[in-house]
Order: sequence, then structure tokens, then C-alpha cells
Amino acid sequence: MRVLIVYPRFERYLEAHPALGELPPVVGMWKYKMPPALGAQILATMPPDDVEWRIHDANLRSVDFDERWDLVAISFFTPQASSAYRIGDEFRARGVPVVMGGMHPSMIPDDVAPHCDAVCIGEAEGTWPAILADARAGALRPRYGPSRPDPREWVRPRRDLFDAERDYDWFAGLVQAMRGCPRPCPYCNIPGIYGRDVRVRAPAAVAAEIRELGGRELYLTDDVVMMTNRAMRRYADELFGAIAADGGANLFLTSSLIFNARDDFLDLLAAAGTRSLYYTFGFEPISRGLYAGDPAMTARAIDIVKRVQDRGIRFYAAFGLGFDEDEPALADRLLDYCARAGVITAEFFLATPFPNTPLYHQLAREGRLLHRDWGRYNGAHVVFRPKHFTPDALTETFLGLWRDFWIDKDVERSLSCFQSRRGAPSPAAPAD
Ligand code: SF4
Repeated sequence: MRVLIVYPRFERYLEAHPALGELPPVVGMWKYKMPPALGAQILATMPPDDVEWRIHDANLRSVDFDERWDLVAISFFTPQASSAYRIGDEFRARGVPVVMGGMHPSMIPDDVAPHCDAVCIGEAEGTWPAILADARAGALRPRYGPSRPDPREWVRPRRDLFDAERDYDWFAGLVQAMRGCPRPCPYCNIPGIYGRDVRVRAPAAVAAEIRELGGRELYLTDDVVMMTNRAMRRYADELFGAIAADGGANLFLTSSLIFNARDDFLDLLAAAGTRSLYYTFGFEPISRGLYAGDPAMTARAIDIVKRVQDRGIRFYAAFGLGFDEDEPALADRLLDYCARAGVITAEFFLATPFPNTPLYHQLAREGRLLHRDWGRYNGAHVVFRPKHFTPDALTETFLGLWRDFWIDKDVERSLSCFQSRRGAPSPAAPAD
């Protein structure tokens, strides 16, 4: 049996807003190509020995629809959906069975179903072996899952499949310590896909995997590990303690401002080799206070940046825009905040209601979704009617923030948080 695993193309921000291409640091960030996300890397671990398979990143090269395959598996998130649907339709028109899975199909399987023979809901470890067996027997079922396997069944992603240094602009390895999240962020699809119970890998197993990867730059995908509840604090202390005991790694972490900001925890993160913390602003109380101009919350948000950066960890801010409370004055507040806090690396994204999230249902109920063109649900387009802006004014605010933040930044210094990166952004990806 011959199986093709496809990672579909998605639009990078700069493609939508070429005017920003005049600013080198913005080009440096927005054009970054990274190897395919974990879903495709996980699928690639599991075909039995007698299955001939290949993985194809459509962001690098166009798909050859005329090559003969017995099964095409497409793993994708929402901004890739328009491209994934086209790829599925093309292969099916040639009589090739297609299975779709990943974040978008798990959240909205009915939308995906017309473009494939089978939809895989949830996590691949629990469904992929059965899908391969059924495809071999010519008996694919329309639905597989939902599946939420125990962490002991999780497979180690195949990071070795890609020529990272030749094909990608930033090639930090992805490491996953847990799945699921108990928080109710209304725009997030993690609880919907992975559940509200957090399933964790043993800290020693994660630390051992990191040790085996040597000094390579690693991106820990879970913001939950930074949370303040007691169980997660204990887990994080154990995990980062084990990494620090090994002499530290080279870590890029992600978090929201609701995180464990104790000084001793920040010391531990530094000892574990954390180089950058990517913080998403938008929904939680500190962001809300900052966006509204609350002096106490602004001072708290400044203090966090300073305490992080005092430990040699780059604070990388990602500001969400367009929430219902957001007003035009927030642009000046955010720029002022970055200047006062010493933020030198930042990005801005438009609030996006991913399908089947609480925010999506609220906006659908209120008749405020502008369209369901999934390719534009990538954080760079206004896809719902905001409360205190027109869509054009919100787009202008978004572009203005990118321009005004980056206009005077030193490219090398600001982008030095991407340690395993190529110097120059690569050319545009092909159309599929
Ligand atoms: S954004 Fe982070 S904290 Fe919020 S629900 Fe999603 S995973 Fe949890």
C-alpha cells in the first residue's frame, strides 16, 4: 500500500498585507516557514513496515495529483482548510481515497466530510492504525474517533523527516508534554479537541527526550505547563528541575499572563535554559486591564516583562486585537506599554473565532460572522464584525501597530529569539 501524508498550504500574513514588506523585521517574522506541525509528524511514525509512505509539505512544493496513491491523509488546522479541501477534491476526482484529520476536522467534521472519504476526530494514535487497516481492506468508515489516548500511547514525532536547514526559516524542534486544558478561553480550540482534563507525560520522559535532542532549540508547545494551579506548579517544578539538572536545554516556551510568575519559578526556567517566552495577550484579566488603560494592571504587566528579561529570557509579546471590549485607544496603550516594559519582539493578531469554539458560537448567534472562508481565519483578517471598530478601521489599527512597533527595531537583536533560523526570509510558497 502507498500512502501520501499531506500538510496543506496556508497563507502567511505578509501575503495578505504586502505593504508591510517594506519593514525588514516584519518580513523576517511573517515569512517564517516552519516544518509541519505535530499532527503530520505523528502520522509519519506509525505506518507498518510494508506501507510505502511519503510526507509532503505543500507550503514548499505543489502537490502532484497524478502520482498513484492508495490513500491520501491530510492533517490540518483551520487556515489550511480551504487548501486541504481543494487537495481532497482533486485526489477523490482521480479515485484516490482521502482521510482528513487534525484540529480543524476534529472541531467541525460535518464541514470537512464532503471533501474526503473519512474524517478522523481527535488524536491520531487512537485511530490511525485502524484507518490504515480499513483502507487496505477497501472499507474506510466515514468517521473515526473521537480519540484521546493515554500519554503512554503517544508516539514521538518524527522531527527527522524534513530538511530543516534547507527548507525552513525557523526549525526549532517541537516537544509536547501534555494535552488538554481546563481554562475557558473562548477563542481556543484546545479544550474542545483535547478535553478539559490535562493528560501529562511523565516529567522524566519529557526531560529524557529533550536530553536526547542535545543542544537543539526546542519549542515546548504547551502553555498549560506555565499555569498557577497547584498540580501544574508541581509538574512544572519537576519537569524544569529535571531539565536544569541535566545542565539545561535551549527552550522556547509559550504562556499567557495567567502564569506562575514567582521569582523562584522564573529562576528555574532560566536554569533550565529558557531563552524566550512567547506571551499571548488578549483575554485574561491582566491583558484586559492593560488594554483598558488600568494603571495597576499595566504596572503588573510591565513588572512581569522586567522580571523575565532580567533573567536573560526574551519576552516575546503577541497581542490579540478586536475583542468586544477593545476600543481604538488601545493601539497607543500597547505601544506605550512595549516602550515602558522594554519589549523588543512583538506580533499582533486579529481575534479569530475558530469553528465550534465558544466565541464562534456566540458570534454566529449574534449574526456577526462576516464569512466562513477558512483560509482567512489566520489572525491576519477581520472575519467578524467588531463592536467598537469598523472592519476597515480594525485592519488599519492592526497594520498600524505592526508598522509603529517595528519601525525602529534592530532586526538582528529583535529576531535573535529565533535561534535556529536562517538569515533571510525565503521566497513565497507555491499555489496548490
Ligand atoms: S489559550 Fe491556552 S489557557 Fe486558554 S484554553 Fe487555550 S490552551 Fe488553555
